[in-house]
Amino acid sequence: MNRTLALAVLLAVALLPEAGRAELRIVTTTTDLGYFARAIGGDRVHVDTICQGPQDPHFVQARPSYMVTVSRADLLIAVGLDLEVGWLPSLVQGARNPDVNPGHRGYLETSTAITPIDVPHGAVDRSRGDIHPHGNPHYWLDPQNAKLVARTIATRMSELDPENAATFRSNLASWTARADRAIDRWSKAMAPHRGTKIASYHATFNYFHARFGLTAIGYLEERPGIPPAPAHLVDLIRQMRAARVPVIFHETYYDQATSQMVASRTGAQLLLLPTAVGGVAGVTSYEKLIDHIVDQFVRAMGRARQ
Ligand SMILES: [Zn+2]
Repeated sequence: MNRTLALAVLLAVALLPEAGRAELRIVTTTTDLGYFARAIGGDRVHVDTICQGPQDPHFVQARPSYMVTVSRADLLIAVGLDLEVGWLPSLVQGARNPDVNPGHRGYLETSTAITPIDVPHGAVDRSRGDIHPHGNPHYWLDPQNAKLVARTIATRMSELDPENAATFRSNLASWTARADRAIDRWSKAMAPHRGTKIASYHATFNYFHARFGLTAIGYLEERPGIPPAPAHLVDLIRQMRAARVPVIFHETYYDQATSQMVASRTGAQLLLLPTAVGGVAGVTSYEKLIDHIVDQFVRAMGRARQ
């Protein structure tokens, strides 16, 4: 790290007021992880999040203020599966807080709680741009996975702060009950659409699709992280027409031009969707995030039938 930057971080940390340290200081890489940490921790935790809802979580610009936040943390929670590999290691290194280094109790990758899908066979060359070398890291969009993520966060919080373990346990139980009721609602709304073939820009929604029985027949990206190329798009358009694909799932932070072009040539509707809490206005909780995705999809299917 640049020496001036390092000095700025050290000074900022030294000058922080030593407020009461009763609460567990948590930093999460994404807003969804932040939402789960708050739901479980309540007023016993202070949670900061680095990547904001509308941002692309694969690529985040490191800022000195993030290093300061990480330098004060008791627990750093990341998605893992290399989602943050392009930006988190330099932040952790710059923060100089050994407690939250990988391998320590203050570092948690919640991917350890789930079973990854889309795990590549054979060698993956990241230098060619493939950004999912250990499988698909967007697992939080399957609400059953979200429950596993919340549970593993609660377990680690209880290890770090045993005095509040009972509170964490009871908050986890309340959130899980709420999630279960929401899963019933989403499953009912999605049931009539099981088996629908869709297309997607990036593979962000694959866990959501798997949970609710949708099949992605193709992606605008040639491989995860590789921008669309003409020959690939010609193929995709042909396949989408043959399968009468009604919708394209498009993440709000990717450029829309290619997806709009493919939509206009195939008659598919373009769904601009948030991928995280805070991704669009009104999506202020995990439940509202999935509500929003389900609602947008179901409405599009209604229009497709007309
Ligand atoms: Zn990705």
